[in-house]
Amino acid sequence: MSDKTNPEETLMSNPKIGFIGLGRMGRPMASNLQRKGFATLSYDVNPQGIAALVELGGRAACSIAEVARESDIVFTMLPAHPEVRAVVLDGIVPNAKPGTLVVDMSTIDPLATDEVAAAVEAAGLGFVDAPVGRLAIHADRGECLFMVGASQEHFERVKPMLEAMGTTIHHCGPAGAGIRMKVVNNYLAIAACQLNAETLTLAARFGLDIERTIDILNGTTATNGHLKTNFPVKVLAGDIEPGFQIDLAHKDLGLALTSASSMKVPLAMGAAARECLQLARSRGFGGKDFSALLDAWCDLAGVEAPRLPSKT
Ligand code: NAD
Repeated sequence: MSDKTNPEETLMSNPKIGFIGLGRMGRPMASNLQRKGFATLSYDVNPQGIAALVELGGRAACSIAEVARESDIVFTMLPAHPEVRAVVLDGIVPNAKPGTLVVDMSTIDPLATDEVAAAVEAAGLGFVDAPVGRLAIHADRGECLFMVGASQEHFERVKPMLEAMGTTIHHCGPAGAGIRMKVVNNYLAIAACQLNAETLTLAARFGLDIERTIDILNGTTATNGHLKTNFPVKVLAGDIEPGFQIDLAHKDLGLALTSASSMKVPLAMGAAARECLQLARSRGFGGKDFSALLDAWCDLAGVEAPRLPSKT
């Protein structure tokens, strides 16, 4: 029997995966890759995340350079554009072999994505932006939604790994289109959270039953995903640990506002919502889940923060 294995096909079907940034999102996403048969080599400045991957059989790297040298596809899941720039431009680009695909899944300034993509491509590597929709609980369950910016060839190459981490994958256009879609999505999602916080503060001040309030709001045209999905299991259940930090939500609204401002597009409600997030940060809520905007607002209004009755 002849051996029909094509080394190029083998490389494509079983690539060496690098993963940098194992925080609240990156850790479960890399874990899902590892569990579903993609061998990962991972790195984070915080060793805790790496330890979790090693427990699942993944390999630990000592540096970004090591991940870059040894991987065919490198995923990054980092807080914001300064970290992405530093990791990709100073760590991956100088060390990766030609043809390596860099897949940034962080939520960053689209102009920074363009800059990073251009530098990656100039170095003979490929670039994909694949920011993530949905929440950390979805990342835990391998149910992420990806908004992908990539050439068709790069999209096909990265799709099996995205399928291991998520259930919904949208190819939005060429490199840079994914992050722009994400900024648009987060603008609406995060500005709506501040409206949730104010609405529930008012309901609590009126002395309304909070469970009935949530049921009614989720059954009318007031419906919004955060009120249905995140608020009941986080802040209203008494859990304000992130999830998704108010600091990151503040950054994401800022991305939309900065982009809009540079294009002379006014976003009046969004600007107000960003200042409300800033207020929550100034009161010590920056590291808490973004549903804790409710607690920050109740605190400000002198209203006792409402909680749903415990299910147990
Ligand atoms: P996080 O702060 O929990 O994780 C970031 C990780 O990056 C940390 O483990 C940190 O140690 C690591 N890191 C920072 N600088 C590094 C460097 N130079 N080298 C290596 N590692 C470094 O943040 P997160 O909640 O996982 O979010 C990551 C990205 O995903 C952000 O851009 C965020 O806006 C976006 N996002 C988050 C959520 C969510 O619900 N948490 C959902 C969708 C998208």
